[in-house]
Amino acid sequence: MHAIGIDIGGTKIAGALVDASGTIIRSDRVPTEATDPREIEDAVVAMIEGLVAGEQVIAAGVAAAGFIDAEQSTVHYAPNINWRNEPFRSKLEARLDLPILIENDANAAGWAEFRFGAGRPFHDMVMLTIGTGVGGAIVAGDRLFRGGFGAAAELGHLRLVPNGLPCGCGAHGCIEQYGSGRALLRIANEYADAGGVGLGLAAARSRKGKLTGKEVGRLILAGDGGALAALRQLGGALGQACASLGAVLDPQVFVFGGGVAAAGDLLLEPIRTAFLEHLPARGYHPEPEFVIAQLVNDAGVVGAADLARHSVTQ
Ligand SMILES: [Zn+2]
Repeated sequence: MHAIGIDIGGTKIAGALVDASGTIIRSDRVPTEATDPREIEDAVVAMIEGLVAGEQVIAAGVAAAGFIDAEQSTVHYAPNINWRNEPFRSKLEARLDLPILIENDANAAGWAEFRFGAGRPFHDMVMLTIGTGVGGAIVAGDRLFRGGFGAAAELGHLRLVPNGLPCGCGAHGCIEQYGSGRALLRIANEYADAGGVGLGLAAARSRKGKLTGKEVGRLILAGDGGALAALRQLGGALGQACASLGAVLDPQVFVFGGGVAAAGDLLLEPIRTAFLEHLPARGYHPEPEFVIAQLVNDAGVVGAADLARHSVTQ
């Protein structure tokens, strides 16, 4: 029996028919500019119906950014879509003859990485997705950790700097303001303003009109001193956050996904260094591994499908 995974992003809906080993049998994607809940619902129903056709399907999982309740049926709040206390599972189940599971997108990606990617050899894993923001997922004792209200692992909103930069969540000093793709751009612009090592960034900025994530990524891989310094600063913030997370969760591995993780070892090295500097009881604690995610673009759909499969078979 296969399962279906759907990932509702800010600009597209991706879906796939996934087998029990996490392999994608067929996939589909549609662009969406829609923020209207009914349009999103119609698009998800149509995609699931298309993927089910002619197949034996056990369940479907739907991943989206936002706060999902502990029963995994209601989306309390979604940043990209106009969902406020949206009973999305019951709406889908009324239109589809399938068990449905709703999951936070970072949790779905983390679960996929744990089951089929870089987290496979481990039982306890923390994943940080370094995209525009910072997403998080926690696996503790082989189980996805959801918390008492379903909203656990919002690791991007862990406070790193007291009275620090304001965050979109309403708080100040969140790790997202110091460790995300958006933060990397802010830091890169600061280096460009300062001159010196930032001259390469300043030249790219005046050539393109503004710095983009793609341009900074290109300069990092080209070995530009300013871009690398910005990445090291970002990694230092993430490494400090990992030391705090390590004190609470004691994972065997930290996995880094998202666009910024394409920098590979150039990102991992400053994270590991800062982690060791800030680790409580340093020298008396086994060192966890720091690795880059393997599933990249497919993690959301594969994880949503596998969690849906687990929800009906266990
Ligand atoms: Zn925040």
